[in-house]
Parts: sequence; structure tokens; C-alpha cells
Amino acid sequence: MAKILSSVILLISFLFSQDLTTVTLQLAHKYQFQSAGYIIAKEKGFYRYRGLDVDLKEYDSNVNAEEEVLQGSAQFGVGGDTVIQQRIAEQKPFLLLFALCQKKSDALQKINNNSKEFINTNSTKKNIYDDILFTTEDFFNNNTRTVDAFYEATVLGWNYAFKHIDETVEIIYKNYNTQNLTKKNLKYEAKELKKLAFVQQTKLGSINPQKIENFAKSLKLQNLSEEQTPDYSSYIYEQHKKDKIRFYPDEKRYIETHSVVYVGVLENYYPFDTIDSQGKHVGLFHDILSIISKYTKLNMEFKYFKNISALTKALEKKDVDIIGVIPKISGADISYTPSFSKVHEYLFVNDKNRKKELKNIGILGYNLEKINNKKNLIKSLYHTVDIKIYKDIKHAIKELQDKNLDALYAPEYLMLNEIEKKHLENIDFTYPKQSLPEEYLFAGTLSTNDVLKKIITKAINSITLEESYELQTKWTPRPIVKKKNNWTLIIQIVVLIMIIAIMIIYKQVSMAKANKKLKLQEKKLLKTQQILLEQVQKDPLTKLYNRRYFADVSKDILSIAKREKSAICVIMADIDDFKVVNDTYGHLAGDKVLKEISRRLRSISRESDIIARYGGEEFIILIPNTELDGAQQFAEKIRATIAYPPFKIDDKLSIRVTISIGLTHMHIEEDTTIENIFIRADKALYEAKNSGKNRVFVML
Ligand code: GH3
Ligand code: MG
Ligand code: MG
Repeated sequence: MAKILSSVILLISFLFSQDLTTVTLQLAHKYQFQSAGYIIAKEKGFYRYRGLDVDLKEYDSNVNAEEEVLQGSAQFGVGGDTVIQQRIAEQKPFLLLFALCQKKSDALQKINNNSKEFINTNSTKKNIYDDILFTTEDFFNNNTRTVDAFYEATVLGWNYAFKHIDETVEIIYKNYNTQNLTKKNLKYEAKELKKLAFVQQTKLGSINPQKIENFAKSLKLQNLSEEQTPDYSSYIYEQHKKDKIRFYPDEKRYIETHSVVYVGVLENYYPFDTIDSQGKHVGLFHDILSIISKYTKLNMEFKYFKNISALTKALEKKDVDIIGVIPKISGADISYTPSFSKVHEYLFVNDKNRKKELKNIGILGYNLEKINNKKNLIKSLYHTVDIKIYKDIKHAIKELQDKNLDALYAPEYLMLNEIEKKHLENIDFTYPKQSLPEEYLFAGTLSTNDVLKKIITKAINSITLEESYELQTKWTPRPIVKKKNNWTLIIQIVVLIMIIAIMIIYKQVSMAKANKKLKLQEKKLLKTQQILLEQVQKDPLTKLYNRRYFADVSKDILSIAKREKSAICVIMADIDDFKVVNDTYGHLAGDKVLKEISRRLRSISRESDIIARYGGEEFIILIPNTELDGAQQFAEKIRATIAYPPFKIDDKLSIRVTISIGLTHMHIEEDTTIENIFIRADKALYEAKNSGKNRVFVML
């Protein structure tokens, strides 16, 4: 909407372009960022909107801006501190409008000679202005409106350029790039220029007479200027303008005859009138009226009133001469000055209703005429709404709290005032999505006191852009600090804790899983190891140790026994007539018998006995820590265990098997190797076989 409106305005101003006043500006630089504010003011229509057609003249080494302006070939010029110097030392009638650089950087000069060199803020800086926009006193006196318009548009242009550097760079790059600069060049220049333009607290472009005076003193010290004490503020446009309010004789008479003007304001009505920490009344009214007081030389005294009707009555009774009003009071016989500040009206929504469709909207208002306009506006923005009118803000807010209203359309300052007074922050008011048009703020006088109204009007119109900007920023309504709902916070904390807990549990579970897996793997590994070991150590059919393992172990046992001087016995056993078993019942039956014999051997032997399958149907048993007679008993037990019961081959068949056993013991001195004992055991076995089988033969 705002875009369409501004384009319409631009279009209209374009259609009436023949009415524009043409002025020429001689720049101090080529088209680069140091000319940005002027380019933007032209490109964005700031000049045109104020009735100006500005002809920009790029820097040209053959042209001198001061000369151009003095001769009138240009109405405005941009120059360095030489402009101030010529004003002071040569009394050239320059009027200083705007100083872009608050300090002068040495490297700035280079830019005039070499177009591609840029400002270097690291170089030495002089505390004097640079890039100064100026005109002549004569031109200002005869064309005040034009100078005002040019000044205003330029201030806007520079503010815009610095606020929207990327867009500005784009405009210069596309339409003004006479030097083939890169965007990077331009952005660098913008950044450096900003450092010189925004110094401490000073407003963009402002010129301070004290600084001019200091500069004059330094010139005097260098003998560059004569002894003189002029009013330096008269060199400066904004200062100059302040003394320029011309009053008609009746106005002058009023000022002279009224030592004090009484001003009525509402008591404690932020931001217009409020009480500061020291209990003093301060506010927007005070500041504006003190500026007016300065311009008009009228002394102002404040009187405070509780409400608008008390204020009106005081004016009618002439207890006060002026009242500060917001907004116009209908019905009263009051003459209003132009607005000096804007009042924004917004749709205030109870936070709980924010997402709801707005159906019941209230309007807070006093002026019936305006209420109708607001009604139409709201209807066009929010379809199908019930609109209620409220005159009492407290009632309206209560309705909003009670949810009888979805939203309330009211001036921002009134709402903020109530929210602050009643500590309604916890209700959580919010700004609406859309800002509706604004109302204006007026000062009012009695209609019969037209002279005072005219004086105040002139003063209001003389408030400079800088002053108005300062007031607006100073008294910008304080933002509503939204307090977070405690419940929301608690829920957030709970959710956070839950997330953390879930994360911990998840981690533990996955760690436990991993652990389990690891243990399982470990078990598997152990089993595999065991299997491998068994494969290496044992005979697969009988699960007894194999011959190789037996030989290894028995060597170790022998050396231990020799050291400890303990006894060792060895049994060598061989199944009797096993060939017959195989031949009669088959090989499988033979295997079964081998297995069963192994099982029986294990079952009657001790943990420390080493039993091995020595050959096909031959077994060897090493019996450590055992004397011969003990071993003989064990050998007899083996023989008996094999001989009975018979070996069950299947359900129908059981066969009798016997075994012959040779037994011997270690001769601790003579048996140097284990093989000596084996041989003796084998001999014993041979004797057992020879003496009729199924018996034990002991060889000493
Ligand atoms: P003796 O009483 O003199 O020892 O007679 P024997 O038949 O037992 O002796 P011999 O040495 O003549 O025969 C041994 C038999 O043992 C030969 C072979 O078939 C059998 N045998 C050896 N190893 C195995 C085996 O692993 N499984 C089966 N079923 N038989 C085997
Ligand atoms: Mg044999
Ligand atoms: Mg045999």
C-alpha cells in the first residue's frame, strides 16, 4: 500500500515536473560513495517530492565549486574546509548547510586528483569539517523555501545512503559509474566514509559554531585571518534559520506584553508529560514548548490537569493560554496549531487471542467524525466484524481482558500509559500485524486568541529536522517488555529434562546392548578357542587327549615329579580281539565300543590322571602322585569296568569286551625320559596279552 502510494506521489510530481524549481549542485567528488547522499536524494525522488529538479555536476578539476556558487552558475556546492576558511578570512558570504565529514582526513584530498583513491581513515585527521554543503546568504534570503527543501531532502538522502549501503552501491554502480569502480571499491568507501560521518553523539551533517570558532582561532595563530569576533553561528544554516522567524507587529506586541504564557498539560501522561526520577515534570510537551519558547522568546509556565475536560475548562476560563492536546477535543471552542508529532494508533490484541480470527473489535475514541473513518478502515481490513466504541480506556481494556473484545484499536501512547500504570504487562499485549494511519498531536489556544496561535505555529514550523528527530528518538514510546509466561517456561524446562532423560536412557540401553553383544562375542571367541584347543589336544572320536599332547604334558609332569620326588605310574591298555568286534558287528559298532570305553575310563579316573588314545584301540594313562599299589588297584578297576557290563550296541545287541593292561612306575633315578617308562608299560601290556588277556600285568 505504502509503495503504491509513494509511486502515485512520484507519478503526480513527475506529471507536474514543469513546476519544479531547477537548481544546480556542484559536487566535490566524482560519482562515488562520497556523492551518494545527493545521488540517492535525486534517485529516490526526495528532491522532486519537495519541488526541486536538481542538476548534479560531477567533480571537474577545471571547476571550482566556491566560484560556481558565488557566481550563481550553481546554487549549491560541496567543498572542503576551504569553504569555512574563505568564509572566515575573506568574508565570502557562504552559508554552511551540512557537513558530511565531522573530521577531515588528509587522504580525502587525494581523491580529487586520483579518482580511484579512497579515503583512508587511518591517516591523520584534523578536527574540522569536510565535504561541506553550502550556498550563499543571498540565495538563502531570497529562496528560503528552496534551501529548506534542498537541505531536508539532502539530509534524508545521506541518512538513506548510509542505512542502505548495498542498495546505494547498486544505484551508483549501475547508473553513475563514470569511473568504472567495482562494487567492492564503493562498499569500502562507504565503510570508511561512515567512520568520518558518524562521530560520537553528533547528528549526521551537523555543524557546531564552537568548532568553527576554534578553527578561526587556529587560522589567526597562523596569521591567515585578521583579528575579529563575529557570531560564528550566523555562518550556519540551522542557526541562521532560528533567528529568521519574522513576527508581524501584533505578534511582536503580544510577545513583548506577555511576560509569561501559561501552558496546560495533562498530569503524568507519558510520553507527553511524565514525572522523572527527581519528581520533575518532563516529556515531549516540555521539550517542544521549550524550543518554541527559545524561538519566540516567550516564557512558558506549566499547569497540570487531571483530565481533558479540566484542561478545556482551564482554557475557557483563561487560567491557561495554551493547552497540549491529544487529540483534537470536539465541541470546545479551540483553535489548533499544526501537528508537531505523530501519534500511532494500533490494534491491540490480547496475546491469548492472537491466533483467533478477530471478530469483535473495539475503538477507543472521542471524536465521532474520526471514529467513523476508523470504523471503515477496520471493516476493510478485517471482514465481518462487530465494532464497539469506547470512550473510557479502562472500560475498553477490561473488555479486552474479559475477552468480550478480540482486539482494541487505540493510540499507542494511551495503551502504553495504562499498561505501565496498571502493570498490565502480564496480560501480554502485543502490537498488531498492521499499523493503521496515525492521528496528530496539536497545541490548542482559544479561538479568540489567534495571535498566540500564529506565534506558536511559526515556532512549530521552525523546528528543525534535527530537533524533531532528536525529540522523536528521545520520547519514542518505551517498548512493551513481554514477560514470558511461567507455564511456558516450566513446560520448556520439563520438555528439556525429558529430552535429556530420553537421551541418557537411550545411551544406556544402546551401551547395554553393545555390552551384551560384546560379551556374546567374547563367549563365542572363548568357545572357538576351546574348540580349536580341543582339536589340537584331543582325539575327535573318543574326546581323550591325543598322543602328541600326551607326550608334551607327560614330559612336564615327569620333570615336576622328579623335582618334587613324587611317584608316577603309567598304564598302557589295549582292547582284546578288537578286530573280531569290527569284523563281526561292523566298524560303527567298533566306534561305539571305543567311545564307551573312553567314557568308562574317564568316569573312574581322577582329575589329575591324563588319559590319552595312544593308537587305534590302545590307551595310555599317566597317574601322577600315585604309588604302584594304588595304581595297581586303579588298573584292576579299569579292567573290571570294561569287562562288565557288556557294551550296548543297539536295542537288540550288547557285546562283551575286555581289555589288557600293562602297568609300571617311574624309576626316579634311571628314567631320564618319559619314553623309558612308556616302553616298560608297553612291555607290561605285552605280558598281559601273552598271559591270557583281560588282565593287569605290573612291571616293576
Ligand atoms: P589283540 O587282542 O591281540 O589286540 O587282537 P586285536 O584284534 O585287538 O588286535 P589287532 O592289532 O590285530 O587289531 C586291531 C584292530 O583294531 C584293527 C582295526 O580294525 C581295529 N581298529 C583300530 N582302530 C579302530 C577304530 O578307530 N575304529 C574301529 N571300529 N576299529 C579300529
Ligand atoms: Mg592293538
Ligand atoms: Mg587289541
